[in-house]
Amino acid sequence: MNVPEQALGAIEGVVGRRWIRRAPAELETYATDGLPTRHSRPCAVVLPGSRQELVSVVRILAHYGIPFVARGAGTGLSGGAVGDRDSVVIGLTRLNRILLIDPRNRRAVVEPGVVNVRLSEAARPYGLYYAPDPSSQTACTIGGNVAENAGGPHCLKYGVTSSHVLELEIILPDGSLVNLGSPGGEPWGPDLVGLFVGSEGMFGIATRIAVRLLPLPKAVRTLLADFPSLKTAGEAVSAIIASGIVPAALEMMDQNCVRVVEESIYAAGYPVDAAAVLIVELDGNSQEAVAAEAAEVERLLKDSGAGTVRMAADERERERLWQGRKKAFGALGRISPDLVVQDAVVPRTALPEVLEKISSIAAAYGLKVSNVFHAGDGNLHPNLNFDRREPDQLSRVERCSAEIMELCIKAGGSITGEHGVGTDKLRYMPLIFDGDTLAAMRAVRRVFDPQERANRGKVVPVHACREWSGVTA
Ligand SMILES: Cc1cc2nc3c(=O)[nH]c(=O)nc-3n(C[C@H](O)[C@H](O)[C@H](O)COP(=O)(O)OP(=O)(O)OC[C@H]3O[C@@H](n4cnc5c(N)ncnc54)[C@H](O)[C@@H]3O)c2cc1C
Repeated sequence: MNVPEQALGAIEGVVGRRWIRRAPAELETYATDGLPTRHSRPCAVVLPGSRQELVSVVRILAHYGIPFVARGAGTGLSGGAVGDRDSVVIGLTRLNRILLIDPRNRRAVVEPGVVNVRLSEAARPYGLYYAPDPSSQTACTIGGNVAENAGGPHCLKYGVTSSHVLELEIILPDGSLVNLGSPGGEPWGPDLVGLFVGSEGMFGIATRIAVRLLPLPKAVRTLLADFPSLKTAGEAVSAIIASGIVPAALEMMDQNCVRVVEESIYAAGYPVDAAAVLIVELDGNSQEAVAAEAAEVERLLKDSGAGTVRMAADERERERLWQGRKKAFGALGRISPDLVVQDAVVPRTALPEVLEKISSIAAAYGLKVSNVFHAGDGNLHPNLNFDRREPDQLSRVERCSAEIMELCIKAGGSITGEHGVGTDKLRYMPLIFDGDTLAAMRAVRRVFDPQERANRGKVVPVHACREWSGVTA
């Protein structure tokens, strides 16, 4: 199918010539998200400047039956926010207003293109913040977070995006506007907010998002511990969780990652000779209680084999420790032309063994792997640096990624912890879901989008459904 000129002309009439991109060089900007291995140029990119313009654009696309892809900041890591030449990408970055901060009810209402960290900055004067903090939070949008059900270091204690979304206004692919959820998050009927959050843009576009805000904790302690092996670091993670203490964050970096961070402008003073480091953050409202928890965690870290345990002396040092962690992908991006950030989840207790096997798998493919991840959740991010211009490197990265996914599944885990399925993980879906389950997912998708025009071809592998359960396209 080709996108008819009439449709593009009508869209241009709505948004104005400046906000529709069609030149190949312009489209190239939108041809990948944060995952360089899934490249596809759309027919056009439209950047509506208001909710009304967005609604009009979606209605024009519905009229002509044109597939579309919503796009926030394009920081996704599963090839979700890219479209093919038969589709139109709808960029939402101009819909970036915080519509309401309601301190009495601890809620905010935002447009989808609001950058994650801006919401916490705006809420801070009221003593509040928005808890989900993806490491990409200085760039990614709340709309993209909703679509991916994004996590982040502090989601261990406070829950991922789905725990913080109260109400959604969405535009369905047929152009109708519907409201899901309730202002205070009370259950009003079936949990359609829960269904939409994490649907990766397949059910429509979130146009307004009401979220919960939390009070800023009064006491925070941040510890940095170094370990002689990945195994002992992994055991420390299990020991902390088993103790019943729930840290606000519990993050791990291996030596490869630490060294790359320390060589970058994000250097945080991590020990470069350690096999692994853990960052553990504890927070709460009582200084005494948090100090007692920090002392207990320090004991557990040392009992598990930590070399030194250092506590951030002040807010500046704490920010530095976090900057190194949150910018680790950026630091890794400096050392080779291409970087694949993988994402999988395993039971926490399997971490030491799985990490060792990941190193062996990468070595067998002649690739360097660096790990930086949400250890408390068992959410792994093996990072593979490569150069796709070198013959065979891309294919080795793909085969290595597939083996890592199979390893994580065998260890009792799954193919994504927070970055979603997109196009990258489609091929693994039949490894964890049978045909009937995939068919059920597809049926749910069709309730929202009978023609499957929103993020066409993503997340649910159509062929697997057909082959395995007789569902027709
Ligand atoms: C350096 C780095 C660190 C990261 N750290 C984390 C992390 O700690 N935790 C984590 O979970 N992720 C992380 N990510 C992945 C990524 O940032 C998240 O998935 C984020 O939620 C994507 O937001 P975005 O605005 O960039 O969305 P995009 O990449 O633009 O889109 C992602 C998906 O959402 C859909 N979509 C976008 N907006 C809407 C909307 N309004 N309505 C419906 N669908 C929509 C798109 O179609 C696409 O399928 C990281 C990425 C990078 C590059």
